[in-house]
Amino acid sequence: SIKNQDTTKLKDSIVWENLSKAERGFALSRPAIAESGLLSQQVENILANVKDNGDKALFDLTEKFDGVKLDTLKVTLKQVAAAKVRLTAKRLKAIETAYGQIKRFHQAQISEDIRVETTPGVVCTLKTEAIDSVGLYIPAGSAPLPSTVLMLGVPAQLAKCPRKVLVCPPNKSGQLADEILVAASLCGIDEIYSVGGAHACGALAFGTETIMAVNKIFGPGNKYVTEAKKQLSQQVNGFAIDMPAGPSEVLVIADANANASFVAADLLSQAEHGPDSQVILLSNSEALINAVQSALEAQLTTLSRAEIARQALQQSRLILTKDLAQAVEVSNEYGPEHLIIQTDNAQQLLKSLRNAGSIFVGAYTPESAGDYASGTNHVLPTYGYSKVISSLSLADFSRRFTVQEITREGLSSLAECICELTDAEGLDGHKRAVTIRLEAPAENAATK
Ligand code: NAD
Repeated sequence: SIKNQDTTKLKDSIVWENLSKAERGFALSRPAIAESGLLSQQVENILANVKDNGDKALFDLTEKFDGVKLDTLKVTLKQVAAAKVRLTAKRLKAIETAYGQIKRFHQAQISEDIRVETTPGVVCTLKTEAIDSVGLYIPAGSAPLPSTVLMLGVPAQLAKCPRKVLVCPPNKSGQLADEILVAASLCGIDEIYSVGGAHACGALAFGTETIMAVNKIFGPGNKYVTEAKKQLSQQVNGFAIDMPAGPSEVLVIADANANASFVAADLLSQAEHGPDSQVILLSNSEALINAVQSALEAQLTTLSRAEIARQALQQSRLILTKDLAQAVEVSNEYGPEHLIIQTDNAQQLLKSLRNAGSIFVGAYTPESAGDYASGTNHVLPTYGYSKVISSLSLADFSRRFTVQEITREGLSSLAECICELTDAEGLDGHKRAVTIRLEAPAENAATK
């Protein structure tokens, strides 16, 4: 590693060129997701309880895990209105501004049906329809997250999902945060339940006396929520989840001219999420890496969640690459959830950066902007899934299906092709369904 004279530095840096293939693999490895049999058994028990006992299980488990005895799960519209009155004008305005920004970006994603006459008389249509009912999980164990309400609620609203159900764990006095209720109301969500954890996911998948089942559940959550979503997607026919979730990640590519304080602030904003957050810096400048190390130490002391951030930084990677092209290669290999580029030639690098959930370009584009208010969605693939899974968008709240209508002439022009291929596959019944129509007199086709 680079010669390190300052022993107070949080983390030694790594010289990429000096690493073997195995060491490179290790440097980019994510911590193994705790696949403990215990967790899966605990969640299995919770889900079975909800399936068998419905609402009673939800009340019991809320008392057990959230420490509050509820009389009702449903949040009333009156409670939502009261929440709005309690919010300061400044906070309300911030929620409304973020809502507007997110809406503007997602509105542009509305897609028209595609209708193509592939050959005369053969009309194929690709239709987009909203998913009938969606469940939006909003975490609130360590802190309520109104920004997540907007990230899930706005696309559900724009996709015109007929039923939008929000679930969120209650605080110790049995309430949901005012900000959560106000954000939900902006998104047109009128079905809100104060229930969280794996049991809330079970309720959304199986249905209970109070909560009707939904088709798909969205949203981040802790390990119980994540495990519940995984189990339910395999267990309940026709029930879907948004994407596999994992601890949040940021990778920053910076050159010698980057502002080390800005870079350190971005790394810390990720590190404060949780001790399992992933933080990586790639730079072709040893001086920049050293400056970032010092800035990290200085800024860390000012954070309210310094201890959490410090733990996450222990697992961080500060990597010196031989040039920026190598940094791009390493980033593409890792496929981060968030990628920040702070280099002189950021636009140039962007052309080759292919694998990331969301990319933040330039000195004045912190991840925080995308987390809250630039307009992009903050629900993003982690764990290298950015190579194959897209960031959450309007498309996730709808499904596409095709419609086709063919005239006699259209079928006639396709017949030779279809019959040759049915012969190749030995599927006579398929061939017959074509020939029987074309052998019938044209005028009788509709009635016989
Ligand atoms: P949470 O709402 O996900 O979970 C809290 C609930 O879990 C509790 O209310 C309780 O019902 C249940 N629970 C607690 N202990 C339990 C136990 N022993 N057994 C069964 N159930 C139990 O809130 P959280 O805990 O704050 O977790 C939120 C998570 O979401 C964090 O890990 C955070 O990093 C993640 N997150 C990710 C993103 C993202 O976009 N990737 C965004 C926001 C949050």
